[in-house]
Amino acid sequence: MRNFDYKKSLGQNFLIDKNIINKIAESINVNNDDLIIEIGPGSGALTQELVKKGCKVICFEIDERLKDKLSLIKSDNLTIIFNDFLTINLNDYTKDYKRLFFVGNLPYYITTAIINKIVSESNPYEITIMIQKEVADRFSAKPNSKEYGSLSVFLQYNFDIIKICNVSKNCFEPVPKVDSTVLKLIKNKKYNVKNEQKFYKLIKDSFKQKRKNLRNNLKSYDFEKINSILKTFDKDLNKRAEQITIEEFVKISNEIF
Ligand code: SAH
Repeated sequence: MRNFDYKKSLGQNFLIDKNIINKIAESINVNNDDLIIEIGPGSGALTQELVKKGCKVICFEIDERLKDKLSLIKSDNLTIIFNDFLTINLNDYTKDYKRLFFVGNLPYYITTAIINKIVSESNPYEITIMIQKEVADRFSAKPNSKEYGSLSVFLQYNFDIIKICNVSKNCFEPVPKVDSTVLKLIKNKKYNVKNEQKFYKLIKDSFKQKRKNLRNNLKSYDFEKINSILKTFDKDLNKRAEQITIEEFVKISNEIF
């Protein structure tokens, strides 16, 4: 965008590659009674394609300087709200729709906060996000790898994670330092957890100090009980959290809470 002072602090790298824009748009398959929520439309490159899908599209953009540019998109089914997505009351916007499709090219520092908000305040059908490549690797990391952490467990507990494509940094303006990946998170509750809040806390605590073992990270928990559950997987408290699978965390949580 000419004469636009891009703000790094808002993660402003706008997608300019038409192929990638189309690829993302094509991956979103909606019916007319669904809702697409786009977080951070920027100059509206993707928004323009999303509105063609026919269902309602609501965009949340924090930067009011984009008002003129975004108002050029003329579409009856589009609403643009200039506000911080993290502060809005999601339920006010989503309640009339059948399935919720979230889309966003997000600055890394708020990605987790945004996903947390979506998961805790709505029932998303799918979330299509563009994030930096290394972060995408952490999202879908498997146990026994250095990328596997509490974020991997949280996301894979809630979603199936599918990679749509890699995106070279040259597809953006201005060109960022790193390449990106587009992921689709599809809601899939395949695990049965009795107390989710406590499960999330257990995961966080288990990975608190990544290099330490469970005995060190879970000091405030019932050691004996956890150890006896771990024994049934041929593991014990000397293992580190990165060696524990999601299924195993679920079993531990359901037995101790
Ligand atoms: N989706 C566009 C723009 C991506 S840049 C594209 O792909 O081209 C990220 C966008 O998110 C910017 O427009 C920035 O202003 C916006 N943004 C950053 N933080 C936000 C927040 N908390 N709520 C809403 N929008 C935000």
